[in-house]
Amino acid sequence: MATEFELIQRYFSRPAPSAVLGAGDDCALVRPKPGMTLAVTTDMLLEGTHFHAGADARRLGHKSLAVNLSDLAAMGADPHWGLLSLALPAADESWLAAFAEGFYALAARHGVDLIGGDTTRGPLTISVTLIGEVPVELALRRDGALPGDDIWVSGSTGEAALALAALSGRIALAEPFITQCLARLEAPDPRVELGGRLRGLARSAIDVSDGLLADLGHILEMSGSGAEVWYDTLPRAPGIAACGDESLARECVTSGGDDYELLFTAPPHRRGEVQDLSADLGLVLTRIGSIVPGESRAILRDAHGHAMPVVHPGFDHFR
Ligand code: ADP
Ligand code: MG
Repeated sequence: MATEFELIQRYFSRPAPSAVLGAGDDCALVRPKPGMTLAVTTDMLLEGTHFHAGADARRLGHKSLAVNLSDLAAMGADPHWGLLSLALPAADESWLAAFAEGFYALAARHGVDLIGGDTTRGPLTISVTLIGEVPVELALRRDGALPGDDIWVSGSTGEAALALAALSGRIALAEPFITQCLARLEAPDPRVELGGRLRGLARSAIDVSDGLLADLGHILEMSGSGAEVWYDTLPRAPGIAACGDESLARECVTSGGDDYELLFTAPPHRRGEVQDLSADLGLVLTRIGSIVPGESRAILRDAHGHAMPVVHPGFDHFR
């Protein structure tokens, strides 16, 4: 049976050239570039809460990093250094090898070096902390939206929630949709490049992890404004379009969660730049509404301008 030290050595000790000192000492040492501010975020994934027992280890490695990359992207920060804390029920080396592979593959794509962590025995729990850099005056905060701003969303929302609905037996999804929706749920593609390119262009941003309207609500609270969102403009991913249950589709798109898209606001005179950026990145960016003066809540409107009821305001662990 491998020791804790051997497991770390074997699976989590690849070189970390961007750090002054990587894993192996009491602390890692990092040096931000001149003029840059550190952006720091952490997220936890728990078996039974965030993923099912027996979930694919490679995808867990990917997702545990992806959700943190998404937070840095939403701040407009460039990711650099990661810390990985693991509680493991047993020293399952095939699990660790697959997990590490998923983690490092995504880390390599975004220039992240693993510089430390912690490893203990316990119910399967994965916690990743990620450190990035952003020029402080260009950080994409939640409190910068102004009345008149356009509201934009990247990619599409709802397919991760639709995968959950399929897993729970609420709906039957045919191929290729079930495979695509499961990939969105288990291996999200964080919008890191987009986040960096939105610096100086977006006035506010957030990543969509708890549901489009719930996360927009955070921007509205912090910015002290309201919003109008036009339901018909919300992007419809193939799985959503094919699911055949309009009320479930609406719930997934507006309130589903686990999307890891970016929602941002920008002044209308910069629409052309947002569209150019979309073309440049090969990533759909859709204008879905606007920021309005008044109460900090979003009103969802149908094609006739009528307010639509919103089923679930988003996910909350303690509700
Ligand atoms: P300490 O007793 O100081 O907490 P540990 O024995 O927990 O140190 O860890 C030894 C070294 O291995 C530290 O540099 C730590 O950051 C690193 N480390 C521990 N677990 C992990 C992990 N899962 N991934 C990456 N590095 C790790
Ligand atoms: Mg320790």
